[in-house]
Amino acid sequence: MGEISKSLFQKARTFIPGGVNSPVRAGKAVGIDPPFISKANGCLLWDEDGNEYIDYVCSWGPMILGHAHSEVVQALEKALRSGTSYGAPTKLEVEMAEIIVKMVPSIEMVRMVNSGTEATMSAIRLARGDTGREKIIKFDGCYHGHADSLLVSAGSGVATLGIPGSPGVPRDLAKHTISLPFNDMNGVDQAFNKFGPEIAAVIVEPIPGNMGVIVPHDDFLQGLREITREHGALLIFDEVISGFRVGPGGAQELYDIMPDLTCLGKIIGGGLPVGAYGGSKEIMAGMAPEGDIYQAGTLSGNPLAMAAGLTTLKILKRGEVYPELENKAKMLFSGLEKSARAAGIAVTINRIGSMGSLFFNNGPVNDFAGAKASDVNLFKKYYGSMLEQGIYLAPSPFEASFLSTAHSEGVIQRTIEAAAIAFGSL
Ligand SMILES: *Cc1c(COP(=O)(O)O)cnc(C)c1O
Repeated sequence: MGEISKSLFQKARTFIPGGVNSPVRAGKAVGIDPPFISKANGCLLWDEDGNEYIDYVCSWGPMILGHAHSEVVQALEKALRSGTSYGAPTKLEVEMAEIIVKMVPSIEMVRMVNSGTEATMSAIRLARGDTGREKIIKFDGCYHGHADSLLVSAGSGVATLGIPGSPGVPRDLAKHTISLPFNDMNGVDQAFNKFGPEIAAVIVEPIPGNMGVIVPHDDFLQGLREITREHGALLIFDEVISGFRVGPGGAQELYDIMPDLTCLGKIIGGGLPVGAYGGSKEIMAGMAPEGDIYQAGTLSGNPLAMAAGLTTLKILKRGEVYPELENKAKMLFSGLEKSARAAGIAVTINRIGSMGSLFFNNGPVNDFAGAKASDVNLFKKYYGSMLEQGIYLAPSPFEASFLSTAHSEGVIQRTIEAAAIAFGSL
């Protein structure tokens, strides 16, 4: 790593826990100190030492149009000159809500918040308030932000009550969270048999991206839709990653399954801090001030965030970017697979649209256990070689890579060539 990044990281660690404002950034999983980024444009990043990188993190998903997209920058400049926050209703918020309702099939009403964490936390509160029940079901390896109820890992298998995934999460709260293996309807059936009348909601990443990309089995999401309906529980799709990523209407449109509530984030902020949750008018009417379930935000619907997000969504709504992203992602991931095979390295590639993961694993990888069976040491070496060659990947073996419209075929070709060298060195 460059000297300037190195000394910045050292200084950062004296003032910020671990030197970072979000843990994965520190690069612990790959044993490499992080480059400190100074600027970005299109699909490229530059660090403080002047190194250039091709970016496949895309800010963990939001930058689907690439960094500093000219239309988004223009909209932000315009908004900036009108003041940055009023704490009062604006026209931009109405336009934002309207475009989300038009694009996401199951959403009739939506509330803006400031992060994905806030979106899932609020959706869980709404589901509990709406049903009068307390338990929730989530899936191992699905990440829904860091709210207490969702920071639960249940290593001990089917229908076991959750144990806190972090010190500081009260046991009394974690016990209401049941964590089950993804893609396994049997576990869900058993949990509903045992706890059916107590279950407020099932929350799921319909296309998990936080254990690496996992492809949902044909009948899994449909199974969740049916069993929740049968038992009077709500189905919450956490589309913070998949929303506007796998298509204009997210995973719910792709698989034609209507959840009761949808959580959004990442792309809807166009690179600014935004989240949202929405659903039917009937359920959303439970929120204050229309109903009595409380949730609020000083900066919610912030005009800068709305300007960046709205501009991004308007471009995505035209629809042309999705076939383009599909072609680019297919080129990238099939190229990676070929290079790995040529080098005799066993990999499994999971991809939907422009989100994909390469697991050092014979596969198939259908759940968290499958993802965890990957060779972490091979990933570390691969990561180091790629970074050295100017390819910036998420510093963890269990993350997705994202493409943007700014990734050109030339850049993708360069990435595949770098990967061939990396695989060859393993
Ligand atoms: C990123 C993410 C979140 C949390 O969003 P933040 O903006 O980081 O709080 C929630 N759910 C999923 C699926 C995510 O990928």
